[in-house]
Amino acid sequence: MGLWGQENVNPCATTGEYPEWLKGYLENPNRPRARNADEVVYLPMSIHSIGKTDGTGHYPLLKILESFCTLNKDFEPYNIQFYLKGEIEIINRDLYYDHDNYSDGTRMMRTYNDPLTINTYITNNAPSNACGYYTPSEDAIVVRKPCLGISGHTWTHEVGHWLSLPHTFYGWEGRTYDANEETPAYLRINGKDTLYVENALGTNCTKAGDGFCDTPADYLSLGWSCNGNFQSIQVQKDPYGIDFRSDGSNFMCYSTDACQSKFSDEQMEAMHAYIEQSKAYYVNNSIPSNKVSDDPMTFEGPEDGEKVHYQSIKLQWKHHPNADHYLINISKFSFFVTIDYEFIVEGNSFTVPELPVDKTWYWRVKPFNAYDACAGFTEAGGFTTYDITDIDEINESNRLEIFPTLIGSGTAAINIDFEFSDLLNVEVDIYGATGQMLKQQHFANPGRSLQQVDIAGLTAGLYLLKISTEKGTLIKRIAIQ
Ligand SMILES: [Zn+2]
Repeated sequence: MGLWGQENVNPCATTGEYPEWLKGYLENPNRPRARNADEVVYLPMSIHSIGKTDGTGHYPLLKILESFCTLNKDFEPYNIQFYLKGEIEIINRDLYYDHDNYSDGTRMMRTYNDPLTINTYITNNAPSNACGYYTPSEDAIVVRKPCLGISGHTWTHEVGHWLSLPHTFYGWEGRTYDANEETPAYLRINGKDTLYVENALGTNCTKAGDGFCDTPADYLSLGWSCNGNFQSIQVQKDPYGIDFRSDGSNFMCYSTDACQSKFSDEQMEAMHAYIEQSKAYYVNNSIPSNKVSDDPMTFEGPEDGEKVHYQSIKLQWKHHPNADHYLINISKFSFFVTIDYEFIVEGNSFTVPELPVDKTWYWRVKPFNAYDACAGFTEAGGFTTYDITDIDEINESNRLEIFPTLIGSGTAAINIDFEFSDLLNVEVDIYGATGQMLKQQHFANPGRSLQQVDIAGLTAGLYLLKISTEKGTLIKRIAIQ
């Protein structure tokens, strides 16, 4: 929505042809009324995330899922819902990421469209810097990154086009309403058709504007903000000189996201009729998946505070009811102010190949499925990465040796031979294989001396010895047989 505040930005760049199917539908006086409103139709959606050729620039997976959740919430009252068909496709190509003309966009759609689904392309730019557009010939949608998000309705608007809806201000695309000029009775479109200008009382509604009689007159073709009644701040005059304000609550107008919340009844009827008559073979009449449980997830590891080797970090959780995919976020910050890594996985564990060493990382998991991306995250906690080293020195002037590292059971202590030139306090922590600290011992300024570390009571297994000083830290592995 932020974009619409800027000057000369179009919310949508869908071309000005009136949808042919809708024309025939509205001209039929005996058109069928809305289908059984109790029956939800589920339509498949393919998402193509476009990044730069070097692989950067992708809209975060989390934000894609949040936007998808908003799309389904917007359509829920109208018994139209969407589900993800297949995985989110990652495409890296500068030409499409920043495309500014329809021929590049059309080529992108021809290359990557999946059959029998609503194809949505997420890009950085679009023709006319618009927030999005629908291309009827390819039957696909583009939505720009800055116009998506949990409170954005651009995707809803573009899917409205996909479902045959024109703008509420149809006929005014590419024109700017000027309050100082007399409003004409007709508009000439594409140099050929003429279209009545919808009057404020709506008496010519069937042959003016978008053709719907429950979407009132609207001439505003540039992004606009609304007042507290969700109406345009700008007052317009109809051809008879009657003042009116546009209704900003309709998804198919150009008001800002905060104004928009609904489709009209006639729009809803048209969308359902369009699905029935033109897209019946897309429809899935059974629920693709049930909603994901709102309960918090249960994690199995690593435990909060655990020390894990920086390579091959295994994150595990219990299967969550009705989820078949999980989004994992990993951040340097416990409040996830930045997301350093994100992954989508299908099973209930994931091995992170490698994370920077000697840092604390926080992780959380959001369960979802093809239909429901609205469940929240559960925070799993933090873990710290370490590396095991063969080097036996804290730094050049402070060395040490540990022996033995392969230990017979029942041994009470192991040795540390310090060769420290500096005055340093030393802390030795012993961790078990699952990361819990089992023993801790302090040595005040050991200098050059042989010291003993108590290991009494440790059972057979692998342990980590963490030797910390203010000049550095070493981690060594020991094994008790
Ligand atoms: Zn549009």
